[in-house]
Amino acid sequence: MYSLNPPSFTAADAYSAAVGTIQKKVDRTPYFAAAPTVQKKCDAFELLARDGQFDLAESSEFDIAGLLGKAMVELYDNQFSRNEGTKAIRNGIKNAAKNALCPYCGEGYASELDHYLPKNKFAGTTVHPANLVPACGDCNFEKLAYKPGRDKPAVLHPYFDTAFDVPWLTASVVGGLLGTPVVDFKVGLSQPHPELEARLNQHMTVFKLWKRFGIWAAQSLDNFETLLRSDYGQSMTRERAREHLRLTAIQQSGGRVNSWEGATHTAMFESDWYLDSYLKLV
Ligand SMILES: [Zn+2]
Repeated sequence: MYSLNPPSFTAADAYSAAVGTIQKKVDRTPYFAAAPTVQKKCDAFELLARDGQFDLAESSEFDIAGLLGKAMVELYDNQFSRNEGTKAIRNGIKNAAKNALCPYCGEGYASELDHYLPKNKFAGTTVHPANLVPACGDCNFEKLAYKPGRDKPAVLHPYFDTAFDVPWLTASVVGGLLGTPVVDFKVGLSQPHPELEARLNQHMTVFKLWKRFGIWAAQSLDNFETLLRSDYGQSMTRERAREHLRLTAIQQSGGRVNSWEGATHTAMFESDWYLDSYLKLV
């Protein structure tokens, strides 16, 4: 999980480029008429973003200056997402992902664009670049049309949330069924902040990161046992194993403050149960 700079394209850039790809000029007319209202919706989006209040976002009425919400979804689906005239904007947003990694999970290939506020419920921001986040297929699929609201905290927005840069993801290695190790993830801030913690928990839940991180962490446990059985690892003392895991935590987190790799390997080297009782390192 990591933060990204907001796209340099404005709402007006993307809207006029998308409308410009509509073949029949006469069909563009209602979109031109709706442009000021669309701009207002995009401005409102950015105010919420600045204040971290996406849970207050109001669904559009599916009628923007006489243009139905369906037409705004079509503007994305039929024009923005597939035409040559909008390709530079689409690719500019997608290519901003660092090493093509999805900012929501930090692991998947960011091959898609996710509507942070779903396009079926927020007609005003269907082609607003600040509402389009490069994402992996799994995150895009799990989030679906998640709409934040009163009892539904907003997931983190990679362009606007600073919470990516303060530590909140930790893990511990515990004995699971049959005494085999399992990595448990936990969310918590050093200073209590219930509202933000609710959002962080919701981020983990909406993207199914508790489960997905658990699966990837299980692979890390397997990998380390494989290493210990290898020629290189057989002579590894407890202290060398700890040092190896500590360095792996630093290296694999790749500078991301909250990463499942960093949390997992830190949990491994910090767990006496894992090193002593389970791996029986001396
Ligand atoms: Zn992802």
